[in-house]
Amino acid sequence: MPYHWPEDTQFEKLTLEVEDKDCPECGRTTTICDHRFHRVHTLGGPLKMTMKLTHCPDKSCPSHSKTLSPEAEFGIAMPYWAIAWDVFAWIGQRRFSRHWSVPQICYELIDTYEITLSEDVIEDYISQHPAGIYDLRPQPNEDSHRATEHTEQEYFKKL
Ligand SMILES: [Zn+2]
Repeated sequence: MPYHWPEDTQFEKLTLEVEDKDCPECGRTTTICDHRFHRVHTLGGPLKMTMKLTHCPDKSCPSHSKTLSPEAEFGIAMPYWAIAWDVFAWIGQRRFSRHWSVPQICYELIDTYEITLSEDVIEDYISQHPAGIYDLRPQPNEDSHRATEHTEQEYFKKL
């Protein structure tokens, strides 16, 4: 999903390099052949990543046409995402554990983090969440909820 960044957005900058610079085919040290940029919202502010892409300098090597990309990018965000994992997790936590509505999430992101995402876009990210990772059972500190359950169980026992 393409994201429109306002021109005056102030990005924190991060340059990422390929971790393993050895060619997987012939073992030569790969060289920088291109750059790729990826801009994302993080809870700490907008971030612009510059990825230094490398390839094997040996034209006869089967790996010459293959470009290596820094894997650290995946630790921050999925490619083509406009948000980092921390925002993704924040959205999922509010939606699935706290049952916030999408408009509420949308408003809170703008209000607290100055992250402007449309409701459609938020829905899209929510749909990518594996809901099973969230423990949807009442947590131990939610005593009132537990008390209600207990009462219901007792109620059914009496029937
Ligand atoms: Zn090679």
